[in-house]
Amino acid sequence: MSFSTQQLQLLFASTNKGKLAEVRQVASGAGITILSTEEVSALGKRAVPDVQENADTYSGNAKLKAEAFYAWSGLPSLADDAGIEVEALGGAPGVWSARYAGEPSDGKRNIEKMLAEMEGQSNRAARFTSFLFARVTPTKTLTAQCYLPGRISVAPHGSAGFGYDSIFIPQGYEKTLAEIKEDAALRSSFKTHRIMALEKIFPELSRALTDDALRTGR
Ligand code: IMP
Repeated sequence: MSFSTQQLQLLFASTNKGKLAEVRQVASGAGITILSTEEVSALGKRAVPDVQENADTYSGNAKLKAEAFYAWSGLPSLADDAGIEVEALGGAPGVWSARYAGEPSDGKRNIEKMLAEMEGQSNRAARFTSFLFARVTPTKTLTAQCYLPGRISVAPHGSAGFGYDSIFIPQGYEKTLAEIKEDAALRSSFKTHRIMALEKIFPELSRALTDDALRTGR
């Protein structure tokens, strides 16, 4: 495959549009062009690989995705694995957040199941976790992890975002993440677990991409 040069390029190993928007938001300030899996697939006329996220940790799944997309594209690749952990449920669903109500993954059923399990529960503390893994060169990898603390609401509110956004109220707010994402002013200053992890990894990632570009001349 051949890709344009000049700009630092990074493949983001996810088809989730919400995550892609967050990565592009942070990358634009770092002078890095984010390529989606669809864009790389179209350029190289190759089908996007279907990576099975079968590790039992966020770090294991993020690594699986980044390594698979690096091997597929030959481009530096960044992957995220995330989930929600609820204190009263012993940290569940965690790494199994996408498949909480069974397979295939169904966001609406996941929310219904969580609200049912939390009915009458006074301890509603929860947090989102984002784990990032970047494969930059054959010998260079980078990782970062961040949390977003908050609580589970009694009913869903708001329709923006994805996953558990409509039932998660971040600490210090009275609105769900879905409602925050609906509000342009709130959204522009809000830092999700993923944005915090991206801001943590990007300075070093940017340096590693620059070193790699100088070394390889691409
Ligand atoms: P993934 O495997 O990293 O895509 O995330 C697993 C699941 O966690 C997703 O399907 C969502 O249900 C949930 N999740 C992860 N991050 C978020 C988020 O930022 N907002 C809402 N739900 C999320």
